[in-house]
Amino acid sequence: MDVILLGAPGAGKGTQAKVLEEHSGLVHVASGDLFRAALRQGTELGMLAKSYMDRGELVPDEVVIRMIMERIGQEDCARGVIFDGFPRTIEQATALTVELERQGRKLHHVLYLSVPTEMLLRRIAGRQTCKTCGSTYNIYYFPSKRPDVCDECGGRLYQRNDDTLETARYRLDVYFAQTMPLIEHYRKQGLLREIDGQREITQVTRTMLQLMERDGSHMQEPA
Ligand code: AMP
Repeated sequence: MDVILLGAPGAGKGTQAKVLEEHSGLVHVASGDLFRAALRQGTELGMLAKSYMDRGELVPDEVVIRMIMERIGQEDCARGVIFDGFPRTIEQATALTVELERQGRKLHHVLYLSVPTEMLLRRIAGRQTCKTCGSTYNIYYFPSKRPDVCDECGGRLYQRNDDTLETARYRLDVYFAQTMPLIEHYRKQGLLREIDGQREITQVTRTMLQLMERDGSHMQEPA
C-alpha cells in the first residue's frame, strides 16, 4: 500500500506521517528530510538542494524525482510508503504513478490535510526541529518539555533556515502556485480524502487511520 500526505508546509504532514508509520508498518519517506540528511553529510545533492531550500523554492523536478525513485527502490520500501512532501508538482506526480505501476504497485490514498493560511504561518514560524533525530515541536502549540531540548533524544532544537516568517510566506506562495493543482489532479482520480488539519494531532491521526481502514487496509488505532 502506498499513501501520499498532501498539504501546505506546516499542515502537519511530518508529524502525522511519523505516527502513521508506527501504526501501519509503512515506511515514511520525506523528501525534505532526505535533502536535509544529504546536506548534513555534505554531499553534492545536499549542497545543490540547500540553495533552493534556503530561498523557499522547489528543488528541480529531475533532481527530486531521481532521489525519490532511488529511495523507493530500496528493499524496506517494498511493503509500502507514506510519501511526505512528495510529489509537489504535476510532473513529480506523473513520475510517481509511472514508477509505482512499473513496480506493480498502486497508490491507495492521497490524504489531504487542509489548514487555513494564518495557522500555517504560525505553525511554521513556531516550529523547532531536533538536530539529532528530526523530531518537530512548536513553541506555541506543542512545546518540548525543556526549552530547546528534544523530548525524544535530548538533542538540541533549532529553527530551520526556511522556517522564518518571510521564507514561510514565500513557501506558501510556491505551494499555492505549484502544489495545489495536485488536489484537483488526485480528486479527478477518485483518490483524494480531505481532512481538517486544524484539530488536535491525535484527532487528525484518528481520522486518517479511519479513512485508511475504510478504504480497505488494516491499521491499529492509536492508544
Ligand atoms: P519540507 O521539509 O517538505 O518542508 O521541504 C523543505 C524544502 O525542501 C522545500 O521548501 C524545497 O526546497 C525542498 N523540497 C522538499 N520536497 C520537495 C519536492 N518534492 N520538490 C521540490 N523541492 C522539494
